[in-house]
Amino acid sequence: MQECVFCNIISKKTPAEFVYENERVVAFRDINPQAPVHILIVPRKHIATTNDVGEADKDLIGEMILVAKQIAQQEGVADSGYRLVMNCNENSGQEIYHLHLHLLGGRRMTWPPG
Ligand code: 5GP
Ligand code: ZN
Repeated sequence: MQECVFCNIISKKTPAEFVYENERVVAFRDINPQAPVHILIVPRKHIATTNDVGEADKDLIGEMILVAKQIAQQEGVADSGYRLVMNCNENSGQEIYHLHLHLLGGRRMTWPPG
């Protein structure tokens, strides 16, 4: 496999500010936050994009949402609200080709997204 930024964070070769980890999922603060709370929820399994998610990953994807919900509570944005985003491929602006869920909160978001 090619060198992957998030695989390196997961294996602790690259430092990151972790806020959560279990056997299947990790979460750390985005290095370039776009909101007061900007956390990435990332499966340990290397899956490049949502196009590569398989039937066998159903529980993993569900767990990412449950972890996001828990972190939103921890970070104090559950009631005020937050946005969960998964970018896929070029038109979305995906930069890192290892599946991740953005948790953005702490400010009013606009819609439609840019
Ligand atoms: P994407 O555009 O692929 O959905 O989002 C990738 C996110 O990863 C971006 O928000 C970017 O700031 C973040 N990111 C890229 N490299 C690193 C890194 O080395 N450490 C951390 N913590 N975040 C990163
Ligand atoms: Zn990876």
